[in-house]
Amino acid sequence: MSIDLEFDRNHIWHPYTSMDKPLPVYPVVAAKGCELILENGQHLIDGTSSWWAAAHGYNHPVLNAAVTAQLQQMAHVMFGGITHQPAVSLCQQLIEITPAALTKVFLADSGSVAVEVAIKMALQYWLASDTPQKTKLVSLRKGYHGDTFAAMAVCDPVDGMHDLFAGILNKHYFLPAPASTFSETFNPADIAPLATLLAKEHQHIAALILEPIVQGYGGMRFYHPEYLRQARALCDHYRILLIADEIATGFGRTGKLFACEHAGITPDIMCLGKALSGGYITLAATLCTDEVARGISQSAAGGLMHGPTFMANPLACAVANASVTLIRQDNWPAQVKAIEQQMQHELAVCNTSAAVKDVRVLGAIGVLEMRHNVDVATLQQQFVELGVWIRPFNNLIYIMPPFIISPAQLSRLTSAMATVAGANA
Ligand SMILES: *Cc1c(COP(=O)(O)O)cnc(C)c1O
Repeated sequence: MSIDLEFDRNHIWHPYTSMDKPLPVYPVVAAKGCELILENGQHLIDGTSSWWAAAHGYNHPVLNAAVTAQLQQMAHVMFGGITHQPAVSLCQQLIEITPAALTKVFLADSGSVAVEVAIKMALQYWLASDTPQKTKLVSLRKGYHGDTFAAMAVCDPVDGMHDLFAGILNKHYFLPAPASTFSETFNPADIAPLATLLAKEHQHIAALILEPIVQGYGGMRFYHPEYLRQARALCDHYRILLIADEIATGFGRTGKLFACEHAGITPDIMCLGKALSGGYITLAATLCTDEVARGISQSAAGGLMHGPTFMANPLACAVANASVTLIRQDNWPAQVKAIEQQMQHELAVCNTSAAVKDVRVLGAIGVLEMRHNVDVATLQQQFVELGVWIRPFNNLIYIMPPFIISPAQLSRLTSAMATVAGANA
């Protein structure tokens, strides 16, 4: 029986699409290694890791075994009043690999929820510290932190969904996105708006939230580590919590295990997601310091007021445990380095294309920034015809392939990017 595309078109929402004029969807029946297999038998080399998640590739024997073994024990059990080994092992590992001061873990069920929890932690911390007037957040233009309401309110106010929900979203402070790129010399003017804002408004500010080093859906921008170092120092000086949203950047993607390491800083609160479970089952985590946890626990509520039904789902924790164990075998630094060098080499030709404004690579992320927004459906089809799965948005054609991709497979991706960018000049 074939997948009923007409039913799908008429009844099922896909991400960020209308039901009126939905973008085409491609039926996938299997995935293995770095390949997606379409219903018609065509194999596509995957350049997306399914939105940063499948860092070890698809259908991985170790990850499959972890899910299967856990399934024989229990698929799920509530986390209220109960604990289990998959959750304990996973949190032990997360505490070991993240910066030393992060010692407490909240397991959430998606990245957006992890951001909601991080914001709730920051607000509850100040409520409990007799400074309830600290209710505002500071965020960066070009930032992206998820699609739920508190998260949306700290996404880029122009390119995000603020216009649509003006009057409903909480109003926070937005600063210009850092202009100094990752590899340029740092321009001290970048940090001046943050210094000015905190000097003036720090009594009202609970936390600064940012994506360290890589701003993802807001433009695939790579900014300078010095911005993070100085932001950390300013937050310390003015008693503002720093929330690092590492949901996309975590687990080696940028060339460091966590992007904060490029600057050698420790946030007060850190969000993890996407690659956390190796791309298998939705799972996220919000980590915080002893100090933040102690503050919250002294609040009138007496605890952190959050508790999803599927919190710490054992299947998700078991596969995340296996995925983090794979990461800790430490093959990723060499893999990411090799991917970075090959992309730098092979995407350089795109600099000569009139349609391409900028070519940039960091870790296992390769980006062509086009001069104009692209037609997603048309480019998607061109990529499928070339045997690759790459999903552009706005004016960005980008890849973040699984770390296990072979040099030959990666060349197929980069040459398809060059071909499609050239064809759409
Ligand atoms: C994807 C993403 C989120 C949201 O995660 P979901 O699992 O899609 O809810 C939040 N922050 C960043 C930086 C992300 O890349």
